[in-house]
Amino acid sequence: MKRCDGENVPCRPNSRYFLAMIRFTTVQELIDGDYTLHAHCHNWHCQHNQTLDLVKLRERLGPDHSVLHDDLAPKLKCSKCGGKKVGIIISPPTGPSGWVNPYIK
Ligand SMILES: [Zn+2]
Repeated sequence: MKRCDGENVPCRPNSRYFLAMIRFTTVQELIDGDYTLHAHCHNWHCQHNQTLDLVKLRERLGPDHSVLHDDLAPKLKCSKCGGKKVGIIISPPTGPSGWVNPYIK
C-alpha cells in the first residue's frame, strides 16, 4: 500500500469515497446525483450567495453542459449586482436519500 512521506499511515484511507463524491461532469449528472450547486459573487461589495436551480440550468444550457468551473462560471452572472466574476461550489447530497458521510459510523 502506498504510504505518505515516511508516515506510517496509508494515504487517503477513504479515497474511494472521495472519488465517489466528485464523479460528475454534467448538469444532468448533478441532478441525478442530487447534488446542490451554489454560486457566489466575487464582487467584494456584493458577495451575493445563491443556490442555483439545476433544472432551470439544464433548460438553459442543456443536460450535457459541463459543470466544471472553467466551463460553467463564465455562463453565470450575479443576480444582485450583475457581476461576471462568479464562483461555484458543488455540494454532495445529504440526508437519508443520498450521500452518506463515510467518516460517521
Ligand atoms: Zn454580485
